[in-house]
Amino acid sequence: METETMNIKIRLTEESRVNQLDPNNIVFGTLFTDHMFVADCVNGVWQTPEIVPYGDIAYNPAFATLHYGQSIFEGMKAFKNEENDVLIFRPLENFKRFNISAERMCMAQVPEEIFIGGLEELLKIDAAWVPKGEDNSLYLRPFMFATDVYLGVRPSLNYRFMIIMSPAGKYYATPPKVKVETEFIRAAPGGVGYAKCAGNYAASLYPAKLAAEQGYTQLLWTDAIEHKYFEESGTMNVMFVKDGKIITPAVSTTILKGITRDTLLKLAQSMGIEIEERRVSVAEIIEGISIGSVTEVFGAGTAVVVSPFAAIGFEGTDYVLPEITENSLSTKLKNALNDIRTGKVEDTFDWVWKV
Ligand SMILES: *Cc1c(COP(=O)(O)O)cnc(C)c1O
Repeated sequence: METETMNIKIRLTEESRVNQLDPNNIVFGTLFTDHMFVADCVNGVWQTPEIVPYGDIAYNPAFATLHYGQSIFEGMKAFKNEENDVLIFRPLENFKRFNISAERMCMAQVPEEIFIGGLEELLKIDAAWVPKGEDNSLYLRPFMFATDVYLGVRPSLNYRFMIIMSPAGKYYATPPKVKVETEFIRAAPGGVGYAKCAGNYAASLYPAKLAAEQGYTQLLWTDAIEHKYFEESGTMNVMFVKDGKIITPAVSTTILKGITRDTLLKLAQSMGIEIEERRVSVAEIIEGISIGSVTEVFGAGTAVVVSPFAAIGFEGTDYVLPEITENSLSTKLKNALNDIRTGKVEDTFDWVWKV
């Protein structure tokens, strides 16, 4: 069946696979919804987007992306509330950040009607795939890559923007042990740390593998110049609770401007918690853990909201953090954000969009 809606060409699947979704047993990133959104930018002109059955795409071996890595993405989540409405959280922030990443990678800007309009239309069609249940969501992955068939190094003239969606379940991991990385770096001033570009993640795999061999589940990245100041943790922003205050590295060109980070800071402010956005030195935090003034360290990102750490490894010593309880600040912030994004409590911040 072919229909025309809102300038999106829609071809629906003949047979839904939604019965493959078991809300009690979701393995992240392995099952994809019935449809995907595709829009091509040809010589700077966006063509009529399409929603088509999820499936393989063909590529030419000379695709610029495969060689020089012009590739960016976003990560967001959709939830169902009690009334079965589909809710998305601060999508305009992801849209804006996507185009900031695009600019840095010299890629085409994506119009709002394609990014947001495509997301909404795809979610309407595949709404049955948004799982209900505690901590369940539909992970949304908008991404774009260069499609020029050309081996010269220059910005591609053609791009493909796509959205795919994959059910996500409860995140069970126990608090990880993280290693302060003082040899490898994630980002340097003037580089691409603030962009959600594919290469940043490829570059992080090797140091993470070495840390895993030493028993650490995650890395705490430090600054590229002195390795003295915290930047991020894995693919999350990082926050510290010291003397009851939240301390977090100020955003810069080497730090991804997380939407969860911003949201948690605004929630903390509304709870009357003091916040400091500044440089945070490794020495300050290690000393704080030793004398008990630093009580929590956690990562913040869309995937897990907050991920509290059990211990921080620095120069061969593990500095163990107090156990997280229901009264921990990170627990309170996590619950407050979850309640808003799943529609359990009133959203006084105007963050939640009903599709
Ligand atoms: C995506 C990402 C984050 C978290 O951003 P959110 O908008 O909160 O999901 C933090 N750091 C890096 C490096 C990221 O890629």
